[in-house]
Amino acid sequence: MPMQQGEVLKNFPQAMEQRQFQVYFQPQVDFARREFVGAEALVRWIRPRAGMLQPSAFVPCLESGGLITQLDFYVWEEVCRFMQAWRADPQMPALQSVSVNVSRCDIRGENFCARLAAILERYGLPAGALHLEVTESACAQEGPKLLETCRQLREMGFVLEMDDFGSGYSSLNMLGELPFDVVKLDKGFVDRCTCGERGRLLLGAVIDMLRQLELGMVAEGVESRGQAEFLAAHGCPVQQGYYFSRPVPAAAFCEMLRRPATG
Ligand code: C2E
Ligand code: MG
Ligand code: MG
Repeated sequence: MPMQQGEVLKNFPQAMEQRQFQVYFQPQVDFARREFVGAEALVRWIRPRAGMLQPSAFVPCLESGGLITQLDFYVWEEVCRFMQAWRADPQMPALQSVSVNVSRCDIRGENFCARLAAILERYGLPAGALHLEVTESACAQEGPKLLETCRQLREMGFVLEMDDFGSGYSSLNMLGELPFDVVKLDKGFVDRCTCGERGRLLLGAVIDMLRQLELGMVAEGVESRGQAEFLAAHGCPVQQGYYFSRPVPAAAFCEMLRRPATG
């Protein structure tokens, strides 16, 4: 059953205390090399007796209620805890990085960069272990504070990813102006390669442009072998989507990493 905003905010403190939020991981695969190259951390709210809630049911409520930053720092700490354990496990293949979602509200907060750096230090991880995803609409709307924070984070060694590129607010100027390392092609964009010749031409041209700008790329929402092949053939081999795996709990993700990537 969906929850109203008031209910989300009311239940949040107890849910945090009882550790009802769980981090799921969705692998990112280099389709050309058939290799896992990273993962995205995606939060779920596992409510006792009431079932699992997807982020769309509570992240926007927490953003408007001013509580998202508390959850995000918890998620990042969980991710660092898992990464530290994986790095110490000789059975686990090296996983260079995990991408986490950063809300625009997080960036507006005080001491954001210092707090983030402190978590990585506590777990003995380099800044490059976390890739920070900021959605393109935040990039388009947030103004100079976002730009300044992104520059600072990058100087500290974090890798910055523009999430949901092509989902509606993108301005090509933004790509030239903002200090991003990686662009995540939105599912809507990826779907164009199965929607006729014009869609394919557009997607191919965007990939080409990103390559010439020397930006990294991850395609999101890849659901079929045809999409994966098209993207790889046009220069975007790093991909994420149900075709490879849905987001799964940490234990299942570990199992998956121990097996070779499929597809
Ligand atoms: P996002 O960051 O763009 O994450 C990608 C979303 O696409 C995820 O939805 C993922 O499960 C879904 N997805 C992945 N592959 C496929 C596919 O092949 N087909 C389809 N149809 N969907 C696919 P999810 O987990 O429901 O997350 C939704 C959004 O909630 C995320 O979009 C992100 O903006 C936000 N979010 C998730 N976790 C967090 C978090 O810890 N903190 C914050 N601030 N936001 C989060
Ligand atoms: Mg994301
Ligand atoms: Mg996205």
